[in-house]
Amino acid sequence: MRSRFSAFVTANWSYVLATWHPEHRPDGGEATLASDSQHGRWLSLQVLESGVASDDQSGWVRFCAWYQDRDGLHGHHEMSQFVRLDGCWVYTLGQFLALPKSLLPGPNAPCPCGSGKKLKKCCRHIG
Ligand SMILES: [Zn+2]
Repeated sequence: MRSRFSAFVTANWSYVLATWHPEHRPDGGEATLASDSQHGRWLSLQVLESGVASDDQSGWVRFCAWYQDRDGLHGHHEMSQFVRLDGCWVYTLGQFLALPKSLLPGPNAPCPCGSGKKLKKCCRHIG
């Protein structure tokens, strides 16, 4: 999960695809991923909860990934499903979730963009 996020940050599309279940990969492969990512910049990842099924063959991660685009700062809240394929965890499906107020940082919290400043003195606009 964290390694996939790092791959998104560094635009390592071959890694993103390699850890994506073959039956669920996006049409267009690397080109699609590259054009989808042009609009924003991934900033930071918060893993909120995760679990593994008792047979150790499937798992899930709920996370919030912060990104920035021309409109400001956004939180991408998602429940991702993973399965083991030849022993390695691969991403199958993600369900996009609304961003609850509880995930929004307070004005005095560190800004999710990673600047080290308080939110109120940094990106401010979160949508
Ligand atoms: Zn900021």
